[in-house]
Amino acid sequence: MNSIITAVDLYKSFSLGEVEIEVLKGIDLSIYPGEFVSIMGPSGSGKSTLLYLLGGLDKPTRGAISLLGHPLNDMGDEEESIMRRRNIGFVFQFYNLVPNLNVEENILLPILLDGKKAKNYKDTVQNILETVGLKHRRFHTSRELSGGEQQRVAIARALINDPEIIMADEPIGNLDTQTGTEIMLLLQEINREQQKTIVQLTHSHEAAAYGNRIIQVKDGKVWN
Ligand code: ADP
Ligand code: MG
Repeated sequence: MNSIITAVDLYKSFSLGEVEIEVLKGIDLSIYPGEFVSIMGPSGSGKSTLLYLLGGLDKPTRGAISLLGHPLNDMGDEEESIMRRRNIGFVFQFYNLVPNLNVEENILLPILLDGKKAKNYKDTVQNILETVGLKHRRFHTSRELSGGEQQRVAIARALINDPEIIMADEPIGNLDTQTGTEIMLLLQEINREQQKTIVQLTHSHEAAAYGNRIIQVKDGKVWN
């Protein structure tokens, strides 16, 4: 089977004044359609840096990435951002919702950014709210929601463009254990029932175990 995400010999350095820190030092990995992969590593090991590169949110110092068979290196910025919006849904540790918008409006943001008409997505929003268990919250503002509910909205927003891939950076890092478990079960259900490929970052063995494969990152390299 062809991989859906491939990284070959990825390097990433950041310059801080005179000092150059090398965070990723030759990462190779392949992720296949329908997998739920947990990328694990201690805090500061470069997980977020890696995910941003895989998702086209930042560029590697060197190395190659391809998404759905398309090399990112060959794409212009505009083409890359369209590719990203259509094919990847992002979920972050702190939800990144707009506080004054209601649940529906937050979920529809990627649609509006894509220049599409929100009114064509009423039924889609309803179905996604059903998936994430928030039908009763559609018109509440995000500041009226608990952390777990906010993360459900963020997952709903990640699903609105029906992407092939969900990338989640420590999705339960800010939640209590019980709520975290519920969110992991939701991600697992989305993986199993909708065949979405999921890549989650975590430093927790419990969270990692919800995936079906673990990739360990340490000292800027993959250790498996
Ligand atoms: P993790 O997600 O595993 O905790 P990160 O990828 O966030 O790790 O960070 C890895 C290292 O890269 C850290 O030392 C961090 O300070 C550094 N780093 C990340 N992003 C930047 C940046 N934009 N500028 C400078 N240093 C950065
Ligand atoms: Mg991180």
